[in-house]
Amino acid sequence: MGDDRLILALDQGTTSSRSIAFGRDGRPVASAQLPFEQQFPSPGHVTHDPEAIWGSQLAVAQEVVRQVGGAERIAAIGIANQRETAIVWDRSTGEPIADAIVWQSRITAPACERLRAAGHEALFRERTGLPLDAYFSGPKIAHILDAVPGARSRAERGQLAFGTVDSFLLWRLTGGTAAGGAVHATDVSNASRTLLFDIHRLAWDEELLDLVRVPAALLPEVRPSSWAFGETAAEIFGRPIPITALAGDQQAATFGQACFQPGQAKNTYGTGAFLLLNTGAVPRASANGLLTTVGWQLASGGPATYALEGSVFSAGSAVQWLRDGLHAVERAGDVEALAGSVPDTGGVFLVPAFTGLGAPYWDPNARGTITGITRGTGLAEIARATLESIAFQVADVLDAMAADSGERLAVLRVDGGAATNNLLIQLQADVLGVPVERPVVAETTALGAAYLAGLAIGYWNGLDDIAANWALDRRFEPSISADRRAALLHGWRRAVHRSRGWIEPA
Ligand code: ADP
Repeated sequence: MGDDRLILALDQGTTSSRSIAFGRDGRPVASAQLPFEQQFPSPGHVTHDPEAIWGSQLAVAQEVVRQVGGAERIAAIGIANQRETAIVWDRSTGEPIADAIVWQSRITAPACERLRAAGHEALFRERTGLPLDAYFSGPKIAHILDAVPGARSRAERGQLAFGTVDSFLLWRLTGGTAAGGAVHATDVSNASRTLLFDIHRLAWDEELLDLVRVPAALLPEVRPSSWAFGETAAEIFGRPIPITALAGDQQAATFGQACFQPGQAKNTYGTGAFLLLNTGAVPRASANGLLTTVGWQLASGGPATYALEGSVFSAGSAVQWLRDGLHAVERAGDVEALAGSVPDTGGVFLVPAFTGLGAPYWDPNARGTITGITRGTGLAEIARATLESIAFQVADVLDAMAADSGERLAVLRVDGGAATNNLLIQLQADVLGVPVERPVVAETTALGAAYLAGLAIGYWNGLDDIAANWALDRRFEPSISADRRAALLHGWRRAVHRSRGWIEPA
């Protein structure tokens, strides 16, 4: 194709909306970003105004289209989104009936606890690959229906629509109202985070819908991630543009990292750390505290690609704490020089269990600890121990993945804001004993959405085309002995042990 058009990725994140236009070489050509407001209505509850999500995302998309010279330059749009965030809107007006309940919100913890107490956890695990946790979107829908007067009966009459952020943006982009031809759909990766979706049959599950008390009439159609979902309403960009991909952000990043083969994995170092391991066409149940999730399904049909996922709650946020809590550094980027000013931590271990520990420990009562402090310990040692703690936590999740999948990783691909820290990534290779590779294009989430969208229209010919675009920025080889690695991990596990169960039950 003598086609110099671009693919526009919309990356709707938790704290900001981003748009990036990519060319056929997978390099960004233009981008724009806008933050939006985080709302905290009560302790542990987090909401977003859906209009703020829409307004910021629309503005950055229009800005990028303007930068590249107009809608005729854009061959297709792909959307990657913050996952599990739930929105319910009125089909006739397109207006949300409540604020979006954000994935971080714990407001549905009691509802999940009730389902667990009633003995349903094993059923949910088996069908959805997920534990009964407030993180996921299904119970958030029920919460909105119960909180808004009249909503449940309107939902049962088919007057309301539910969507995660991908569906809401698709609805708004394709017309905004039922009369305006708006499309109500989601993709398998987003559906797999609801607790309502059977990841084996790739279909909504009536029994789970009943248990969570979500009327089926609310739900979007579930499609492959790479699919002709619809076209943007002409007035949005001046002419219609096809929307041909939807995917949850972490799955999109895994796709953007070209982890197409079973056994390939990526880690994103942001506020937390998110690891996904491609397990191929078979969902692997976890015996080690990981989630089983749908990675993606391509338009060509065929089976979905599944992944094991593990999340670390505090990664980059531990560096924020060094900066804002300890005033050890002025900017997050300065931590590399401070930590690099000493050859080791002098036996200090830091466990950043600020909000408990995630995979594979799942200990909400753990709290942060610093162990092994002596008179020789200074901020440099603490800073180095903080970076090491990020690497250790990732190593723990990868161990769990190896135990669940029976495969040892050959190489780890990394991205995210903290992955620019060379010392952190070297420490990661050291504690894993596995090489770590950082690609040139760090915006892997947006890139994954663009790849999925481009595949649907033949802009890229196949996965090989895309894999060939993956370009190495830097490869980090393990540089310590097996004995040293074992000693470090031993010290880390002793420190984790001391951090656990710190909060005593009331
Ligand atoms: P998110 O998408 O979760 O908002 P980003 O991918 O933007 O996160 O990464 C930001 C996080 O990375 C922050 O928590 C910050 O403290 C951390 N960070 C940024 N630069 C560095 C650095 N050079 N070294 C270590 N951590 C860093």
